[in-house]
Amino acid sequence: MNAGLYIHFPFCRAKCPYCHFYSVPWTAAGRRVWREGLEKEAEAASAPAGPGAAGLRFDTLYIGGGTPSLLGEVQLTAIREMAAARFSFEPSEFTLEANPVGGGPDLIRGWRYAGVTRLSVGVQSFDDATLRTLGRPYSADEALHFCRAARRVGFDSLAVDIMIGVPGETPKSVGRTLETMAGLEPDHVSAYFLENVEGLPFAKVLAGCPVDEDAAVDSYEQVRDALDKAGLARYEISNFARPGYECRHNLKYWRYEPFLGLGPAASSHLPERRWSNLASLEDWAGALAGGGSARAETVELTPAAAAREALVFGLRLVRGVDAAELRERTGVDVFSLFAREIDELTSDGLLVRAGSRLWIPADKLLVSNAILSRFL
Ligand code: SF4
Repeated sequence: MNAGLYIHFPFCRAKCPYCHFYSVPWTAAGRRVWREGLEKEAEAASAPAGPGAAGLRFDTLYIGGGTPSLLGEVQLTAIREMAAARFSFEPSEFTLEANPVGGGPDLIRGWRYAGVTRLSVGVQSFDDATLRTLGRPYSADEALHFCRAARRVGFDSLAVDIMIGVPGETPKSVGRTLETMAGLEPDHVSAYFLENVEGLPFAKVLAGCPVDEDAAVDSYEQVRDALDKAGLARYEISNFARPGYECRHNLKYWRYEPFLGLGPAASSHLPERRWSNLASLEDWAGALAGGGSARAETVELTPAAAAREALVFGLRLVRGVDAAELRERTGVDVFSLFAREIDELTSDGLLVRAGSRLWIPADKLLVSNAILSRFL
């Protein structure tokens, strides 16, 4: 069975005030601890008596973080070789998340030599005022320069992440990002709403300058329209791509296909269980060094639980889910399991059913959380 391999790189040069992903300051000593932990975790995961990854064929690799673009060619090659030594591993897609700062052409070229096929650049905005509000340590020009350098060294799969719903955002500031992207022609764009996570430094900024939700939705529509005109079709609520450039690795999450996550805070989903790792470098590495498990929590999946999760993830996709396919994989008929919910949602125009397919209508995707909560 094909599966995805995710590796979490838990380091950043500095913490962005709005970020809720697990990361700690980048140090050489920390990196050594992480690398040793990765080796141990990969060894344990690939053992015949391990969690079930031994029989999988990994065809995508995604290194996320954190700021994995702090890694160079030699380190990325070593990680790739580690995966090839431990697993059945033939990646047709190898994504590296990158920050558009601190990487000259030689570093970027080295990523290509290490086998990276897809660069996902966390630009967030091509508007200087928005970048300043977010506390990002680069200008719009520097971000553009970085992306152009990636193109020049031969990355023909370039993804750009942007953020919407940022305090002070206007149609003009969003327009500046869209204009720059039009010139850059990325193959994939992810447009995420800024989340207000309690306890983060940015919560104070948002308290002083609250974001108007309707205006944020207008920004999303502005982005969607511009990307549509540029030939990037929406295939998931927040993700847009040229035909053939959809992220194969992330599609596995939404299609409920297996993936193994290595590193602190990484999540995994194999056919009968899913789990997340300890979200602390020290705890994760310490558990592995002592020969124990680095998991924080494991959920054993009954067929009904798997069908429910597959439905909820799959409905985030524009194409929705095929209930017949789902029944083949889980043995569960979601039309029976959720007969009442599906009936009510389809009569309210919040879900469409055609044969065995179910999907959320395009104009309702932004309220998908409320729709999906009906299945939970
Ligand atoms: S660089 Fe990315 S992962 Fe690191 S703190 Fe900023 S947003 Fe979070």
